Parts: sequence; C-alpha cells; structure tokens
Amino acid sequence: MFMTEPTHIEQTRRLVTAIPGPKSVALGERRHRVVSAGAGTLAPVYMEQGSGAVLVDVDGNQFVDLGCGIGVTTIGHAHPAVRSASDRQLAKLSHTLFTVTPHVPYVELCERLAQIVPGDHQKKSILVNSGAEAVENAVKIARKFTGRQVILALEHAFHGRTSLTMSMTYRPWPEREGLGPLMADVRSVPSSYPYRDGHSGEEAALRTIDHIERHIGASSVAALFVEPIQGDGGVIIPASGYLRALAAFCRENGILFVADEIQAGIARTGAWYSIEHEGVIPDLVTTAKGLAGGLPLAAVTGRADVMDSVQPGGIGGTFGGNPAAAASALAVLDLIQEDRLLERASHVERLIREYTAGWVAKYEIVGEVRGRGAMFGIELVEPSTGRPAAGSLTAVISHCIENGVIALDSGTWDNVLRIMPSVLIEDALLKDALSVIEIAIEIANSTALADRRLEP
Ligand SMILES: *Cc1c(COP(=O)(O)O)cnc(C)c1O
Repeated sequence: MFMTEPTHIEQTRRLVTAIPGPKSVALGERRHRVVSAGAGTLAPVYMEQGSGAVLVDVDGNQFVDLGCGIGVTTIGHAHPAVRSASDRQLAKLSHTLFTVTPHVPYVELCERLAQIVPGDHQKKSILVNSGAEAVENAVKIARKFTGRQVILALEHAFHGRTSLTMSMTYRPWPEREGLGPLMADVRSVPSSYPYRDGHSGEEAALRTIDHIERHIGASSVAALFVEPIQGDGGVIIPASGYLRALAAFCRENGILFVADEIQAGIARTGAWYSIEHEGVIPDLVTTAKGLAGGLPLAAVTGRADVMDSVQPGGIGGTFGGNPAAAASALAVLDLIQEDRLLERASHVERLIREYTAGWVAKYEIVGEVRGRGAMFGIELVEPSTGRPAAGSLTAVISHCIENGVIALDSGTWDNVLRIMPSVLIEDALLKDALSVIEIAIEIANSTALADRRLEP
C-alpha cells in the first residue's frame, strides 16, 4: 500500500535564498499569465510544505507562519490527527451529497457543534463550504424565520466576498468597488472601536441602537450580524458590555443576534467561541476557518426553531459537509478537547502580551497592541497625529516576509498588523518571530520619526 511520508519539518526559521527565491520568482511569472489579477497575494513566496507553525517554500526557505492562512490552521499545518482522519474517511466514503443520501460524519459534526456553540437550548446546524456561504445561509434563515428583510452589519465588518456578503462588508476598497450592485436591505451601523472612539460599551451601544431606531426602524430588521472580535477590520475588540447591550436590544425587538465566529471561533481566542468572553448567547453562529484543520468546511448553528424555519431544499449545496472535511473537523474538535488547546491559546496570549508589553511606550508608531488568545492586532499610527499609518504597516510586513515571518495586514485603514499563529506554536519559535516583528517596527519607527523631522 502507498503511504505518504509525514512531513517532519524542524520548527525553525531558516532562509537559504533571497526572498522571493528564484523558483518563486519563476512561478510568479507563470501565475501572472494564468491566474486572475483579482486574486491578490500578500507575499510572493510559493509554499510547498507545511508542518506545525512552519511553512517551506519552493526554494527551501522556512517561514514562521503567524497567519495560518488567516486563522485556518489553528492546530498547525498537516496535523497528524487531521491527516489520518481525512485519509481514513476518503478511503471509506468521499462523497454522497447529504441531500441525496446522508452520511455519518455530517450528523456527528452537527452533534458536536450543538455541544460547543454557546447556550443550553436545542441547537441545529447546516454544513456548507466557506465562510461567505455560511453567512449567506444565515441571512436567508433569519429572513425566513422573522419574515423581515433588513440585515444589519457593523462598521469595520468583514463577512465575505460574494454578492450578498460583500454588501455586508464595510470597506468599499478593495472588497466592493465596481462589483455591485450591492444587495438591497443591508445596512451598516456604528460599532464599538475603543481605541478610536473612546466610548464605553454602554455609550457605543446607545449610539448603535439610536442609529437603528432613527434611521432604519427596528421592526423591519431580521438580524444583526456581529464579529465578537473583528478580524479583517483590524482585530477590534468591542468595549466590554457593548455586545451584551446589543443582544438585549435585539431580543426586545424580535431581531436575531448572529455571531460571525468564522475567524475568531474554534479555540482561536482561548474559548470555543469568542462571544463567550462577553457572556452573550447568540441566536445563530457561523463557523468556518479553523473548523476542519485546513479543509474547506463551514457551518451555521443556532436555535432549533430558527434553523427549522426553512423548507427542505431551501438551503444547502453539493459539497456542503463533505465527509472527509467533516471527519477532519471531528478530529480537530477532539484534539482541542483532549489536548486542552483552549488553555494553550491563552498561553500564546500570555507570551505575546509579555513580549509586546513595552511597545506602545517605546515606539511612537505603535498605537495599541490588543488581542485575545492567539489573535492579536498591533495598530500602527503616525507619531504625532495618531492617524492610521498604512505605509508603516507595508514596511513592517515586507521586512517580516524578507526575514522569514508571515504576518498579516488588517484594518479599515490597512494599518493593523495581525498575528494569528497556531496555538501549538513552540514558545521559542514564537519569540523568534516576535523578535523579527520588533526589529521591523523599530526600523519603521525610525523612518516615521525621520520623515516627521523632514516635514516643513
Ligand atoms: C473569512 C471570513 C468570512 C468569509 O469566509 P470565506 O471562507 O473567505 O468565504 C466571513 N466572516 C468572517 C468574520 C471572516 O473572517
């Protein structure tokens, strides 16, 4: 029998060529002939292997992955538990289409989701392929259940790139411009961004609620979508109490409260779901990125009465809940439970906090370091004005990539460095990667100060 050798890649950063290396450069040329320009890329390095927190490119350079493909490989690349679960499942049964003939992993995963999604009410799920598809389905379900049309999303939100979900995504560029028309009856409402608005949770909630009541009308609203921690928006953690106040307002007005946990869910922040930090029980929850250890899989989970309001055939799709992806997800959830990875995410949080503790005082361009678990944002600003410093972020990310660290951009103003390592990253490797980030920030800080001196 043919068996793939497991990749045992030493958990170290090691560069053997300039970045990008010659093979990556050559692939870049091929890519530009055949891959749509619309599929943008942060780093022009083509990856060939991954193991744990390390990615190896086609030239043999080893990178520390602090991005996890945007929070997907939370348990690391090519985790043996996920590999064996998906291999075993593929050998047994690779596809049926659940709506033709159902299969076991689908049901088992929905049972598990009913356990881990917050709340002790009866919960049901539907499995789909991507985050955007989960959000789309949550919108349809909410509209059907409430008989109302209006969907609310927060400022700085990211909910996806399909026609419907890009309408819920906050930024015009690059997510929406020229790609409309936008979906009708999707409205953006003020949010809580403590670093920039200075409001308490209560004050920010009053502002959001007033906007809904004065400009939209609560009685026409089907659902409010929130990311309990806004990922692409810049790792924004709403002020404490904000989400609780919004959830109470929703309950009083027959509006469904939907937590989009696609990025922050599944152990990422030291809890199964990031909304747990706020003690709120959502009506619906969307899950995707970290769910299946790197395979495409997403879910909508929520109150049984809400989930059952759609007619059979009204939601679903050909590949949704693919048996191998669902089996991988079950392995991921087992691993999180058995190896206590929620605690492990909190350990990563402590390490990052310790390492970055003096940065705001030490570097004028660091406005704030914020995060939970293995999800952090470092907001970069202009030294004297405090305005978002997108140029500094570009410089920091380039320096990181050239020195073997993959870190992500984020923020409505493209000025928040986003760090989302695997929760299983080794301490020494994380510290090594953070030392690279610190040097990058130090250089960008000196540049920004020099620029300021040059100003007339
Ligand atoms: C990534 C993301 C989505 C979209 O997921 P895709 O799988 O890319 O379609 C939606 N919501 C949030 C919060 C996300 O981070």
